[in-house]
Amino acid sequence: MHFHLLVLKRKSIKNVLMMIMETHQDHSNEHREFMPLPAHPPPKRDDTIFSWMKKLANANECPMKVMFAYVTNRARERGFLEALHLLTRVPIETISMMDNEFRDEFWKYPKQCPFKECDYTTRKKTSIIKHLNKKHWN
Ligand SMILES: [Zn+2]
Repeated sequence: MHFHLLVLKRKSIKNVLMMIMETHQDHSNEHREFMPLPAHPPPKRDDTIFSWMKKLANANECPMKVMFAYVTNRARERGFLEALHLLTRVPIETISMMDNEFRDEFWKYPKQCPFKECDYTTRKKTSIIKHLNKKHWN
């Protein structure tokens, strides 16, 4: 199945989270098509990857935690910058020039905070989600 954020404007967050969980389980089809986000404003000159992702979340009327989970799932397949490129159609050259707050291949280390500047680690994956919600998504 193909998922993209077109449905976000009509469906509840609960449905979106279910979608993401389902997407998370689907590693079989490596070459499924990446639909761009319904709204994908290009970054401004002074945007960082994180500030731009917050704008993408706002533009698509979705919470940052949902946008982050969505991009992360796509990053597992194609890499972070490539996933952002495919979801926004912004050239990868432009994206790779931006300041990036996230650790390299952060999705491979689910017990470590994905932010470079933060040294939070935990024994439980679920604590990272709580940590991100509390410390980073506001
Ligand atoms: Zn952190």
